[in-house]
Amino acid sequence: MRDTNFLIGNNAKHVWHPMAHPGEMRANPPRIVEQGEGVEIVDIHGHRTLDGVGGLWNVNLGYSCDPVKDAMTAQLHKLPYYNAFRGTTTSPLIELSYELCEFFKPEGMARTFLTSGGSDSVETCLRLARQFHRANGQPERTKFVSLKKGYHGTHFGGASVNGNPNFRRNYEPMLAGVIHLPAPFTYRNPFDTDDGAIIARKIGAAFEEEIAFHGADTIAALIMEPVLGSGGVIVPHESFFPIMREICDRHGILLIADEVITGFGRAGSECGSRLWGIKPDMMSTAKGITNGYFPLGAAMIGEKLVSAFEDAKGPVGTISHGYTYSGHPIGAAAALATLAEVKRLDVAANAAARGEELLAGLHELASRHEIVGDARGKGLMAALELVSDREKKTPAAKDVVQALYDKTYEEGVMVRTSGNNVIISPCLIIDNSHVARILSALDAGLAAAARKMKGH
Ligand code: PMP
Repeated sequence: MRDTNFLIGNNAKHVWHPMAHPGEMRANPPRIVEQGEGVEIVDIHGHRTLDGVGGLWNVNLGYSCDPVKDAMTAQLHKLPYYNAFRGTTTSPLIELSYELCEFFKPEGMARTFLTSGGSDSVETCLRLARQFHRANGQPERTKFVSLKKGYHGTHFGGASVNGNPNFRRNYEPMLAGVIHLPAPFTYRNPFDTDDGAIIARKIGAAFEEEIAFHGADTIAALIMEPVLGSGGVIVPHESFFPIMREICDRHGILLIADEVITGFGRAGSECGSRLWGIKPDMMSTAKGITNGYFPLGAAMIGEKLVSAFEDAKGPVGTISHGYTYSGHPIGAAAALATLAEVKRLDVAANAAARGEELLAGLHELASRHEIVGDARGKGLMAALELVSDREKKTPAAKDVVQALYDKTYEEGVMVRTSGNNVIISPCLIIDNSHVARILSALDAGLAAAARKMKGH
């Protein structure tokens, strides 16, 4: 291992970081995280912070989850890899596929397809949606519908259904035949209301209008996150998912719930679909499935789709899609141990309870800090939106957001900023003292951001 000076000197010099400008990263190198313990991380200078990011919405059980580490180590020694392409499989994969179908049984999931992460799971769902319609005798159903501000990863399919122009512009043209609807966002929307129920109905009406325009028989699927994560933690009204589910059903359109963030407890329920009381046709999952310790994802396939594939005659039923690491035995072992811990610790219930405390605290901060335009969240997904003018909702400038980030870190809490949003997504095993620490560091961070805005 090279020494600290080498690491600091070469930081961001030979690597391009995801979702970042490589020139900016060279000029302002990222913090080097060296160690993780419980719900905390320690940087290369020995500065310890509570991880308010939870890795990247994924280290739900914290950094010291020995059952997962032990399961991975044991599998590494027994069989570090074997493929799951036609003809061979491994025992952790068989067991994991059983457990995942059990876990998502209330959502009507009956099969799983293992992947290497969230983008792969989304891609798998999009592809299988088209194939399902083909196998079902409706090959013209190829289009996808999604939400503006939605995030579905970075493969061409996922990026095409993404609803954030930042992730699209440099890579145009995207996949043809994608229709974007407005986001169910009370703080900013084109409907001139902050009433979530009205917004939900209006988006439903817009969906119906697009269906009439394009023809239902050209649309394969609607893909949505139960709570929009990367778009700034946008929590839809409780009526929204049921409305969209009903419209999909009426028009034979599949509903894909992108549960990459919400999949294993983060939103305060075992999954986002359960939170809203709906059964999707497919679910894309990843992140918390292995507690972030191994890159693994799972596309879940609902009962409704099964026979179209399994009883199909000939190639239309063959899944000509898959990854070298689909069902990687170490990843499968990690996921099995993670699932057991998720259930044993009932992290979904803790996320719900701690999430309520956190949200109440964020509202209290908003009442004292003019710079907070909106505070929102569900479970342990939360955000503060920073503005320079509350009336006009003008997004706060980059250096103001940076001032909050730096001060909060100095105060002992790592948060993530995205545009003018501050995103908070700690490990799901935090207790109320951790919530208090997050709020107190943010309090100091907001004061620093306000000083920056005033030019001090
Ligand atoms: N879908 C959603 C909802 C996500 O939040 C993410 C990642 N943040 C992805 C897909 C892509 O996952 P990955 O980065 O693991 O490819």
